[in-house]
Amino acid sequence: MKQLEIKNSEQKITIGKVVCVGRNYAAHAKEMGNEVPDFPILFLKTATCLIPSRGEVVHPDYSSNLHHEIELVLIIGNKIKNATEEVAENAIFGYAVGLDMTLRDLQNESRKRGEPWTLAKVFDTSGVISPVILKSEYHLGGNEKIFLSVNSEVKQSSSLDKMLFGAVATVQHISQKMTLEKGDIIFTGTPDGVGRVMPGDKLTGGIENIGEIEAIIV
Ligand code: MG
Repeated sequence: MKQLEIKNSEQKITIGKVVCVGRNYAAHAKEMGNEVPDFPILFLKTATCLIPSRGEVVHPDYSSNLHHEIELVLIIGNKIKNATEEVAENAIFGYAVGLDMTLRDLQNESRKRGEPWTLAKVFDTSGVISPVILKSEYHLGGNEKIFLSVNSEVKQSSSLDKMLFGAVATVQHISQKMTLEKGDIIFTGTPDGVGRVMPGDKLTGGIENIGEIEAIIV
């Protein structure tokens, strides 16, 4: 997927880097048996892994534990490096709803061996993303509800004020480690309630005032 759609606009955004935050909700860190981190834990996905909402997530045959993670996604609108809080805030161009699909068995094995999470997080269709809502149309309040159901059963239900590192702090932190540019997107981490999905399952979720997302596992 090379471009993101924008709600109520013909304009499209060409996707750059896909930076993801791990363990950004204390309850999710706890359910995974992890400590709450002092700084955002960062990893990357690729634009080629992403599909738009209402697409099909293809279950890799080398995993038997594919998990859903619903997340707030930030879209960066201009180049920043070592941003102040104000510069970081102004660099957020829009918001979307994302699914950071994760091969939990591969992640747990790589963690035990001290190896990168790459194969657990980067596989075709491992990221689903909704159309973008521009910040000029809606400014994140920070306490919006975030939710995900599998086959109409609620699995994840939280609010963005439970994020350990909020949107602006996350952008600011990432900009201290790598230059962010127009079109880069940031998956900001998932609340608790993650779980296994199987071929045939239908995921539906969203973030209050930001948007909705759907995907089918095949
Ligand atoms: Mg995640």
